[in-house]
This record gives sequence, C-alpha cells and structure tokens, in this order.
Amino acid sequence: MTTAFAIRGTTKYHSVADCPALDSARLNHRGAVFQITDTAGHTPCTVCASPDITEWTVTRDNLVELLELIGQAKPHYAPRTPEGPYDLSVQIDGLTIWAHRGQPRTVARFGDTITRQTDGTWTVRHAEETSR
Ligand SMILES: [Zn+2]
Repeated sequence: MTTAFAIRGTTKYHSVADCPALDSARLNHRGAVFQITDTAGHTPCTVCASPDITEWTVTRDNLVELLELIGQAKPHYAPRTPEGPYDLSVQIDGLTIWAHRGQPRTVARFGDTITRQTDGTWTVRHAEETSR
C-alpha cells in the first residue's frame, strides 16, 4: 500500500509530507494536505518523487515544482511582442536560474533539459532550435 500526500484540488502526490513543493501548493490552492493510499489519478511530484533523478525537461506542468527544487530560480517571461498594443510580456516560457558563483544566469525554456550537477550547480541543455 502506498502512502503519499496531496493537496485537495490538485493532481500531484508527494512521497514525503515535508516536501518543499507542498508549501507552495498549499498557498496556491488554499487546500489542506491529506494522506492518500491510492495514487491513481495523481502524478508524482517532481521534487520529492525521485530524489535520484538529476535531470528534468522543463514543461508547463513541472515549472512550479522545478522552481522549488532549484531554489535560486524564477519564472522566465517570453520576449515582448513588438507589434502588440502593450509593451509587456505576461507569457511564461520557462525559468531563469540565478547565477551560480562564476557562472552566468541561465534561462531554460519549455522543452529544455536541466541537470543538477554533483556540486549543486545547474546546467541547461537547450532543445533543438527547430523543435521549438
Ligand atoms: Zn513533492
């Protein structure tokens, strides 16, 4: 029997009750954490489901969890549309990883693959330009 944790109104489950992604989910969905024994209909949380995994492809589905996982990251907004009526971009197209010491700030767009290195830094492998 599986023991997992979830927020009412969401479809993610967490392996551990103190998963950092649960804090944001709780804030965003204003739901209480409850324990579940059947994870059918739920998908595993990126942050706590597979601690051995060190590589993720950035998607709309896992963006918030990856922000939690990386810590030093924020959403990245798509470039402004020149011909639009408003000179403002509100469309998120990936995430920005804050600069590590001695490394430039890095942007990973949806479809790009990020890797956690053994020294705790992150690298980004960009998807093929043609596949965007
Ligand atoms: Zn989790």
